[in-house]
Amino acid sequence: MRVLLVEDEQTLARAVRRGLDAEGMLTDVAATGPAGLELGLSGTYDVVILDIMLPGRNGYDVCRDLRAAGVWTPVLFLSAKDGEYDEVDAFDLGADDYLTKPFSFPVLVARLRALVRRGGIERPAVLRVGDLTLDPATREVRRGEVRISLSPREFGVLQHLMRHRGMVVSKLDILQSVWDLHHDGSDNLVEVYVGYLRRKIDAPFGRRSIETVRGAGYRLVGEER
Ligand code: CA
Repeated sequence: MRVLLVEDEQTLARAVRRGLDAEGMLTDVAATGPAGLELGLSGTYDVVILDIMLPGRNGYDVCRDLRAAGVWTPVLFLSAKDGEYDEVDAFDLGADDYLTKPFSFPVLVARLRALVRRGGIERPAVLRVGDLTLDPATREVRRGEVRISLSPREFGVLQHLMRHRGMVVSKLDILQSVWDLHHDGSDNLVEVYVGYLRRKIDAPFGRRSIETVRGAGYRLVGEER
């Protein structure tokens, strides 16, 4: 599950990010409205946490711009109660949920999970490649009827490959999508996780759905037998 946190209070942002990472949610942080909008427009997040008072562009404007651009990622607003807006404004302006600072971290996590389960106005579709299915909302992966249990990183790698099924996806692309937008870690990490995935989604079923494309990356194919 990928989270975009748009928050200009650095101490709070760091604490929330650390906590969400520990919950297996991969979190990118933007510290201004424009930076948050730019990341949000990529549409690659499962949920957005938007502070309201932000430098450059306030959270309401960011949310409205996302919706106007057709991005329906669920949005949870954060507000210090002393702001000039209130909860009613938040829902009018396209929020899916709302938390007042200071909030309890477990409550935040529960709300985020609920939002992702519920999905945005357009719930993300179940991804399907051959008899392999992945439901971004419930995080369930199946080969045929067999449920497969994946770690958060494995799930992220598979989801990325399934979104680009039939296409060659570079290791760097996977690194940036699943680990961190600015990850400069080694390609080996991706190789290791692709190895884990093959042992879970392919080997037990006698499949070879994740192809290695030499010098280029990986391609997920829906080979039927
Ligand atoms: Ca703020």
